[in-house]
Amino acid sequence: MNVMQDRQPAGITILGATGSIGINTLDVVSRYPDRFRVVALTAHTDIDTLAAQCRKFQPQYAVMADAAAAEQLQQRLRESAPEVQVLAGSAALVEVAGLPGVDYVMAAIVGAAGLLPTLEAARTGKCVLLANKEALVMSGALFMQMVRDNNAVLLPIDSEHNALLQCMPDAYTTGMAPAGVSSITLTASGGPFRETPVSKLAFVTPEQACAHPNWDMGRKISVDSATMMNKGLEVIEAGWLFNLPVENIRVVLHPQSILHSMVEYTDGSVLAQLGNPDMRIPISHALGWPERMASGAEPLDIAAIGQLQFSEPDLERFPCLALAFEAMRAGGTAPASLNAANEVAVQAFLDRQLAFTDIPRAIGYVMEHADVQEAGSLEAVLGADARARERAIEYLGTASNQVGT
Ligand code: NAD
Ligand code: MG
Repeated sequence: MNVMQDRQPAGITILGATGSIGINTLDVVSRYPDRFRVVALTAHTDIDTLAAQCRKFQPQYAVMADAAAAEQLQQRLRESAPEVQVLAGSAALVEVAGLPGVDYVMAAIVGAAGLLPTLEAARTGKCVLLANKEALVMSGALFMQMVRDNNAVLLPIDSEHNALLQCMPDAYTTGMAPAGVSSITLTASGGPFRETPVSKLAFVTPEQACAHPNWDMGRKISVDSATMMNKGLEVIEAGWLFNLPVENIRVVLHPQSILHSMVEYTDGSVLAQLGNPDMRIPISHALGWPERMASGAEPLDIAAIGQLQFSEPDLERFPCLALAFEAMRAGGTAPASLNAANEVAVQAFLDRQLAFTDIPRAIGYVMEHADVQEAGSLEAVLGADARARERAIEYLGTASNQVGT
């Protein structure tokens, strides 16, 4: 990958362009018109946002979830962006992730729906900018093998993992065992319910769960932050990215979200990366890597912030974090099952079919019944995902779990 050396504009595909990460990515890309050329943008159902993005960035391709939505988008673009080829469906997502003229793929679809196009980006040797942590959690061994076999570059967008990469030894690349590193510590804000009395958690609403104190994110990751499953998924993600066992990965609560994570070295040195909670910082780091480029983020005024606090997370308040550690210890297909159960439970909570405190119960139920297998093939991963979804739906069907009963 020498995309930055010849200074031809690099081609970029943004999977999930209409989401929080997609929009932040386009904000950064728009600052560097000589450096990046948008090849493809994808969305699930949000035609309005994708149409506006297509008008502004004039990509070669746009992808919608189905033919009806694609047809509507094509109509909208007839006059303003007639050159854009509008495609539909999951095969088209895979296609635009692997196009020959694409150097960078921003993987910013939420959940398991992003797995196949993200793997395709790795298979075709792209610079993969990974926001879609669920893809790596599900298929860690396969994904990392795909990256190695095809000389892809894998750069994390999650602010914690991006921070960790920045604190790693010189010349470190993801997947290597980091020399001289004794542990890594992921920081977690604790989300909106960090101090809510545990007895009240059963009654919190999707609106409250999605009102994150520090970050403006999509609904699924916002709920994951409120349960701390987000941090659990990130622990598993960190294990794959930085080639470290679960024993060497810690989580600490840090409500200000200013220190994004830290690397402890064997000599006792601890390196951390700090910055305002603005996803354009990790996005710019990855788009510019190994160089630096301006992101548009406000400079950090540490004196104005005054205090940074740290404490141990309470696993009774956040049982999802414990479930994720268990899944990582179990290995194989266990993380894929965990992720699938969580996706079903979070959607049910957002649809007001499940109480907030039943999210970990649903996942626990699925994990108790999961038959952990080796995760050496895509079939094994997708099979575990499908079985876990069925089990989670089975849990939702038990009347006692309905909200308000
Ligand atoms: P979001 O809900 O705002 O956006 C999701 C995007 O994916 C949208 O463009 C949507 O159209 C698309 N999408 C959703 N379902 C799809 C499907 N079934 N098929 C195809 N496309 C689909 O989410 P987000 O906050 O941007 O998060 C995206 C990913 O980045 C998640 O995996 C999240 O964990 C990760 N991430 C987000 C943040 C953040 O600050 N938002 C930070 C770190 C990591
Ligand atoms: Mg994160």
